[in-house]
Amino acid sequence: MKTIVIPQRYVYAGNLILVNAKHAYHEKIAKCSLAPVNAESSNILLERRAAVLLSKLMDSIDGWAQISFVSGWRSKREQEDIFSQSIAENGTAFTEKFVARPDHSEHQTGLAIDLGIKQPNIDFIRPDFPYSGICQTFRGKAAMYGFIERYPKGKEDITGIAHEPWHFRYVGMPHAAIIAKMGITLEEYISFLKRFSYGKKCFDYQKDNQRIAVSYIEAAGTKTECELDDKLPYSISGNNVDGFVLTEWRDGNGKR
Ligand SMILES: [Zn+2]
Repeated sequence: MKTIVIPQRYVYAGNLILVNAKHAYHEKIAKCSLAPVNAESSNILLERRAAVLLSKLMDSIDGWAQISFVSGWRSKREQEDIFSQSIAENGTAFTEKFVARPDHSEHQTGLAIDLGIKQPNIDFIRPDFPYSGICQTFRGKAAMYGFIERYPKGKEDITGIAHEPWHFRYVGMPHAAIIAKMGITLEEYISFLKRFSYGKKCFDYQKDNQRIAVSYIEAAGTKTECELDDKLPYSISGNNVDGFVLTEWRDGNGKR
């Protein structure tokens, strides 16, 4: 075992950060952490790992000719411009339904992408991404590559955002698969994980021969200390609320 020390600011970083009307994005992603998904859309950037996995997902469905990247990472300034422009053009009611306020947009994290089916005129705020054809094939495989449809129908009261079939969020594996299987939102997943307090209980995700344990670590002030099994691969993400999500890759028998 080894003791790791997690600084407070890590609460606000990682693939699982919850960014919504209640929880602002506190970080500023470094430009060197961003990459284009492909050369053709070199102005659409995502956090590097999300960009690589989105590219692999597009390869796997042979989607390049039919799916466009409409919007990826946005600076705070761009989000401010989009928000005020939408207020001017579409009014407040529409804008509040579909456009997040600056610092409350997932697009500032580099982990969100808006997609549209390729057509001559693509609506920037509400691109067409139907539940059929290649777009539905994309949805079917998204979780396998760590992406979730972030604002599903029927969950508007929870996400605070209208149904957006085009907006996908990278949360990584196995979280995307768990979220998709449970049919929940990121808001619900972050709350759900609080039942699995590290050291007491964990949520087990089993796939093929791999067992992955997910648990929650509450932030304890400026530094959170945690005893981890140093033989297991693990990753830690902040939840952007009050703690961290620990993901441990255990062996197929569940042995530690
Ligand atoms: Zn979006």
